[in-house]
Formats: sequence, structure tokens, C-alpha cells
Amino acid sequence: MNGYAPLLAGLVALLAGLAIGKAWERYKLSGGKWIDRRRARESPHYILGLNFLVANQIDLAIEELSRAASLDAEALEVHMILGNLYREKGQVGKAITVHQSLLQRSKLTRIEHAYVLLCLGLDYKRGGFVDRALDAFNEVLRLDPKNEYALLNLQKLHEEQHQWSEAYDTRERLNKLAAIDSQPQSQAILAFLENEIGLEAMRRKDYGEAARRFLSAINIDARAVPAYLNLGDVRVAEGRDKDAATIWEELVEIAPDRAYLAFDRVEALAVRTGTPERFTRLCRKLIEDNPQDWRGRLALSRHHAAGGRTQEALDLLFAALMQNPHALSIHQAIWRALGQLRHPAHLVNRYTELTQHAVFYLDPHVCLRCRYRSTELLWQCPHCHDWNTFVEERIAPAQDTTEVEV
Ligand SMILES: [Zn+2]
Repeated sequence: MNGYAPLLAGLVALLAGLAIGKAWERYKLSGGKWIDRRRARESPHYILGLNFLVANQIDLAIEELSRAASLDAEALEVHMILGNLYREKGQVGKAITVHQSLLQRSKLTRIEHAYVLLCLGLDYKRGGFVDRALDAFNEVLRLDPKNEYALLNLQKLHEEQHQWSEAYDTRERLNKLAAIDSQPQSQAILAFLENEIGLEAMRRKDYGEAARRFLSAINIDARAVPAYLNLGDVRVAEGRDKDAATIWEELVEIAPDRAYLAFDRVEALAVRTGTPERFTRLCRKLIEDNPQDWRGRLALSRHHAAGGRTQEALDLLFAALMQNPHALSIHQAIWRALGQLRHPAHLVNRYTELTQHAVFYLDPHVCLRCRYRSTELLWQCPHCHDWNTFVEERIAPAQDTTEVEV
């Protein structure tokens, strides 16, 4: 899919190596018999192996590290890295065998035991053995309650199983350990998990519980956009239209850049309750506050087009096109409007002028973490499973079409 996968694998392996290096430091601090284990680390094979690892030549790294390991059967960290490399190569069975045999050693310290179990947990996770992975990570936490890596993997496993309450509790534990500067994103993740718990309640039609959860998510993170959308849906289901309108308008106020996600809901409710001006006013205010807001113009134009005010709709669409010539949805709306007006030549010419340098693409949202692309805004990346990592890619009106890059 992209050129980042091998690089990423190398980094993961490297990070696993660093984590083990850290374990090694702790081992030394704990007064372990480090002189006994120096042989493997001092052999040229160990250094060569690490160099191949950094250069992402996994097979050669395995070869050299295997030699280093054979010099010293006791060298725990070398065997741990080897096991991790087998896992990265997809040889999960081999990785499990290596790590399990390390667990059989009688003289492991508590922290060594925890790190080998962590590696084993990652093997199980990679191999899809969910229950065993859960057991392994929980056991790591029993031995080393502040192990952030185990907590994070546990959170991800629970998310994959849609065990949102468990994922929430694990994340809360992790947040208490995490550095202050990572707090905003940590709070945002907690809010997303709370929102998922609310959605489950909503599917059971337990509206009271659902509303409590969505409110709690907003409380945790005022920018928890999906919680506003869902809370409004609950209010509509409860027959509380006014409250729904209020919460969606609050969303537009707090996150104007995401306001478009509420457009369909706000418009449907405004039309249904006989107050369409509530929707048009909202769009106009968004455009006024941010002249680059093309989505506000597109939504307002749709509303006008549906009401037969095609010329007004088209004016808005041309203005939207000047802000974002790459949005396919604007072009489609323009052609619909031009069709309704029976293609007057001066309007078609105006459109041709505006689109001369436009570049089209269908998947403008991109995950900052793994570069996964999506047509729609996603709150959790289906590829790297991280939360809230999508941004909308925008390219400037191109002078030179070779410069289409972010
Ligand atoms: Zn991603």
C-alpha cells in the first residue's frame, strides 16, 4: 500500500531492541551478573547484527545475532531480540518458541520475567491468539504494574474485541502514568472510548445511560465531536428536538472545523420542525467567521437547490470552488445545478475558468501516523488503530501539476 511498511517494521524492531536495552539497564541496576553476559554483546556479531537491524536488513541481522547468541547461550537480551525479529518477519511460531524457552530459565529476575512475557504477549497478539496475549500482558502488569507498553497493548486488544469498558479502564491506568505533555491526546482517547460505551448503550436503546456516557465524554474532552453528534441523536430518539438542536449548535461553536459533520442532522431537524432559517443562519455564520469554509457553502447551496433557488445555489458553489477546487462533491453539485438551468453558456464558461488548474482526488483524509488514506473522516485509523490521527489533506491550486504533494 505504501513505502513506509518496511521502515516501520525496522523502527518497531529497533524500539523493541531499545525497550530491551532499558530492561538491561534495570538489570544492571538491580546488581545482576552482567560480567557473565558480556561475551555475546562484545562479539562483533552483536554489533554487526544491530547495524543490519538499523539498515532494515532483517535476514542478515538474524544471522549475525544468531551467531552472537551461540557464543553465549545465557545472553538473554540477544535471544529476546532474535525472537522479536522472527515475529517481525511473520515467523510467529518460531518467535513463540524462542520466548517460551527463555521463560523456562530458572534464574530470571522479576523484571526479566516481565520483559520476556511482554515479548511473548506481542507474539501472541501478532499471531491472533487473543486470549493468550491478554493473559501475557496482564501477567506483565502483575510483575511490573507501571509497564506502559503492556498497558497500551492491552488497551488495543480490548479495543479490537470491542470491550470498550475494559479498554477505558486500561487507558485510564496508562494516563495516570503518562507524561503531562501527552495529556491532551490521552484525554481525547479516553473520551473516544467513553463515546463507544455510549454507542453500545444506544444500540440497547438505553437512552439514559447513553446520554450520560456522551455527556461524560464531552466533559473529559470538550472537542469530542462524535459525542455531540450522538448525544443529539439520543435527544431526537427521546423526542427532545430542542435539546438536540442545542447540542449540535454547541458542537458547531466549539469545533467549527468539524461542523460539517452535523450539517445533515441540523438541516433535517430544522426542516422537520418548520424552522429552516435555523440551518441557513448557522451556515452563514460559519462562512462569515471563516471565509475559507467551503463545506458551509456547499451545505447551504444544497439547501437552496432543494428549495428551487438554483442561481443562489450556484453562486455559493462557485465561491466554494475557489476555496477548494479539489473537492469532487462541489463539482458534482455544480453540474447538477447547471443541468437544472439548462447549461447557460456564460455559467459553463465561468466554471471552465475556475477549474482550469483543479486536481481531483477522492480520499483527502490521511492518517498522520501511518499515512492510511480515507474518503471520510475517521476517528480511529483502521490500519494503525490509533485515535484521532486524521487530517484533511489540502493542495494549493496547482501552477505546476508536478507539485501535487503535501
Ligand atoms: Zn493510521
